[in-house]
Amino acid sequence: MTATTQARPKGRARKPEGQWALGERDPLNPNEVFKQADAPLNVRRRILEEYAAGGFDTIEGTDLRGRFRWMGLYTQRRPGIDGGKTATLPPEELDDEFFMMRVRIDGGQLTTEQLRVLAGISTDFARDSADITDRHNIQYHWIDVKDVPEIWERLEAVGLDTMEACGDCTRTALGSPVAGVHPDEVLDATPALEYIKKHYVGDPELANLPRKFKTAIAWLPDMAPEINDISFVGSIHPEHGPGFDLQIGGGLSTKPFFALRLGAWVPLEEVPEVWLAVVKLFRDYGFRRLRNRARLKYLVEEWGAERTRQVLEEEFLGRKLVDGPPAPTPKHTIDHIGVHRQKDGDNFVGFASVAGRTSGTALAAVADAVEAAGSARVRLTPYQKLVVLDVADENVEALVDTMRPLGFEARPSHWRRATMACTGIEFCKLAIVETKKRAADLVEDLETRLAHLNEVLEHPIAIHLNGCPNSCARIQVADIGLKGQIVTDENGEQVPGYQVHLGGGLGEDLVVGRKLRAHKVVATELGDYVERVVTRFVEQREVSETFGD
Ligand code: SF4
Repeated sequence: MTATTQARPKGRARKPEGQWALGERDPLNPNEVFKQADAPLNVRRRILEEYAAGGFDTIEGTDLRGRFRWMGLYTQRRPGIDGGKTATLPPEELDDEFFMMRVRIDGGQLTTEQLRVLAGISTDFARDSADITDRHNIQYHWIDVKDVPEIWERLEAVGLDTMEACGDCTRTALGSPVAGVHPDEVLDATPALEYIKKHYVGDPELANLPRKFKTAIAWLPDMAPEINDISFVGSIHPEHGPGFDLQIGGGLSTKPFFALRLGAWVPLEEVPEVWLAVVKLFRDYGFRRLRNRARLKYLVEEWGAERTRQVLEEEFLGRKLVDGPPAPTPKHTIDHIGVHRQKDGDNFVGFASVAGRTSGTALAAVADAVEAAGSARVRLTPYQKLVVLDVADENVEALVDTMRPLGFEARPSHWRRATMACTGIEFCKLAIVETKKRAADLVEDLETRLAHLNEVLEHPIAIHLNGCPNSCARIQVADIGLKGQIVTDENGEQVPGYQVHLGGGLGEDLVVGRKLRAHKVVATELGDYVERVVTRFVEQREVSETFGD
């Protein structure tokens, strides 16, 4: 270990942060205690051999509210509990006996065969629930632990699983939804995604990280690279050719931080090696004392890009990385909605549901529609959308028409296109307010109120709704970000509402939205508020000014 990394800052007393590389192995919070007491991945065997037979009441507490997450399982919120009580009720009163289950879909890539299996699990075991998440997973609700073995069997039969879909581990890796087909793509990153999934997901050595670790690997910057713990984004080196720009330490939550470039260029075949080195750096140096300081971004913020790269090279790679140029940044969000030409002459068609909500019944019908259009490939996106690949010209319109009644629109209004929502109070134990239904009502409302602006606005205005101060729906990088909280209405009553953040964005518009303390909106008046803000923007903007500007 080098002196650079061992040395503590001089002249200031500092509590141990639980950094393993500095010998700070004593667990410093309850999560670290249960992870050290028994490896999280061991819970898989107990689910299969004990809990599925014994049922919910037999599940041990630190498994139920801790290790189950490593298997993609969270207890869902007991129905009917008021959002104002979220912070005060003990966990056992918030817990329902059913689970949310997240299926990891690395790269967002699915075949129609896989889609049918996902649909069947939804209708057979999840009361027809299915949400497309903003990390292109499929999330179910109402899962009974007794059904988990059969669900896993069905998933594994088609190459899918829920392993490490949640928990302090390497979560679903984002890829470009149009990897391999987009005409602007120079290098398809899918082999790196596949290698990492095959070799490292479920590795006990990487299953006790300080907190979650989010990955994005793609040529196109269409997977929100700025807010992942590690991103590899397409970049052409003047001597070595196509490869990837390495960025690390991004994340939102309650303290947004955009990933830092390390100034390094990584060829495709070295992406898994460099990824593994960064995961180990996080595992060994990440802060484990306070949960709200345990993401990689806090370490990277403290060290800066130069020292982070030095430690990575000296201690975890054992070699220097190649210096490289930055990846290009997109001017606007790339959501792939609509009909677009592939590099092979076919088309890909991007569809919006409302805030990712769909159902098993709809997904089964989508699989039929995709095959009727001559394709067998579907992609989910980090914007809660669905893209169908390989559609010949003559099949496009029939596909678009068939998908519409299934809740998937290829030519959506701006509002439907750019509204995202997290799980919210319907199922999430941390939520304070409703989000999915509120988003659906808002989209319907705005489609009527602001229909006249569809032609006027060149780009959709992104509206993201969170049910609590966490940022699962990325509110700080939306044009209008809405953070759920209890607010005071005009009669002095405490009611569900939102704190507004305005003007956030990614790509060239990279900025955290401004939190306007005075802008707190009662949930029932959301439509009025958005109409006022958008109308004022349209009236006062200068030529080509975007909402973020
Ligand atoms: Fe739950 Fe909050 Fe995340 Fe929404 S933002 S899913 S309410 S933790």
